[in-house]
Amino acid sequence: MTASRILVLNSGSSSLKYQLLDMADSSRLAGGLVERIGEGTSRLVHEPLTGPGAAGGKRERTGAVADHEAALRVVAAELAADGLGLDSPELAAVGHRVVHGGTRFTRPTVVDDEVLAEIRSLIPLAPLHNPANVTGIEVARSLRADLPQVAVFDTAFHATVPEYAARYAIDAETAQKYSIRRYGFHGTSHSYVSRATAALLGRPVEDVNVIVLHLGNGASASAVRGGVCVETSMGLTPLEGLVMGTRSGDLDPAVIFHLSRVGGLSVDEIDSLLNKKSGLLGMCGDNDMREVLRRAGEGDEAASTAFAAYVHRLKKYIGAYSAVLGRVDAVTFTAGVGENAHQVREAAVDGLSELGLALDPEANAVRSAQPRVISAAHARVAVAVVPTDEELEIAAQVYALVTQ
Ligand code: ADP
Repeated sequence: MTASRILVLNSGSSSLKYQLLDMADSSRLAGGLVERIGEGTSRLVHEPLTGPGAAGGKRERTGAVADHEAALRVVAAELAADGLGLDSPELAAVGHRVVHGGTRFTRPTVVDDEVLAEIRSLIPLAPLHNPANVTGIEVARSLRADLPQVAVFDTAFHATVPEYAARYAIDAETAQKYSIRRYGFHGTSHSYVSRATAALLGRPVEDVNVIVLHLGNGASASAVRGGVCVETSMGLTPLEGLVMGTRSGDLDPAVIFHLSRVGGLSVDEIDSLLNKKSGLLGMCGDNDMREVLRRAGEGDEAASTAFAAYVHRLKKYIGAYSAVLGRVDAVTFTAGVGENAHQVREAAVDGLSELGLALDPEANAVRSAQPRVISAAHARVAVAVVPTDEELEIAAQVYALVTQ
């Protein structure tokens, strides 16, 4: 029997999300998260999906979890209780989501000391994310030193964006010196969803041009030509592009000078303002689209304006990426908002019939966990909803690498 289980770890600054998958049949064996690590009272939610524990459903525990090492030990104990222990010979590798791969990492990479040092050297590009990703790798290594640890980068899928689209029009030497360019994020999702869209249309991925709209709390758009990403909305960091839950997305960079010179705000204050207190939250006080929709439905003006701004930005990107691709076969919505908010899909596509886009209102209103086409029968461009699955994509990439 060849080992076919992959443990996928997504380490945040105070959280550890995990899934154990069996790539023999792409099934999920267990998953969960530890949150508020190092904050006194941490919380674990563990869900066994197979074996003796599965019938009991989700298990929740609270208690002190001092750091990521302690968190992974707690997770290991939960998995062991379900007969899915990390000491199992069936475990083939651990896959780690790493946010920033810079220009150095464009594919999944087995981590050795040198690779770990390089991921660490990218911390200035992703100060909020890469440190936790490094910790996750170190901890998993300490637990099972014999297992391949594989880093899968959020930026990797966007490495094919052509130079003229990846470059900002700034002084070339400065850009080079400080590694300033468009990297793009949510790459595993854009990769998975663009391929799943081709499968949904029953066409080879090489023949399909798709605009993917990943609308979660963070949100990004990408233009994918025949399976190859040619443009994406996030940039040097995840701040650029669409209006998000708490991030502004695009804005005139001079807003920053203005806030500094006239408002007297520090760089850190502006960073926090644009990343954590802007977007839907900044405009109306709520970052959850459900709440924004509820309030807008009751006639709340701030919520209505925030919704309109969110949708307006989406339309601009659909238009821009239609021009970039020339021919569009599909526009696909994914992630929390994209998969669930039919109002957002309807408003984003509304009025775009000249671009070949029109919805079937009944299909759009259906709630489902399945990939589906929601465009009108006469529409030239398919509009689709494809639930994203970043863990499965990471596990598939890791499994392909360790079994090649
Ligand atoms: P993350 O970026 O944190 O992975 P998700 O992809 O899980 O985010 O998306 C989370 C967001 O999805 C929530 O903040 C919420 O705005 C939105 N969302 C979830 N369910 C619904 C729903 N039924 N209707 C509208 N929005 C929803």
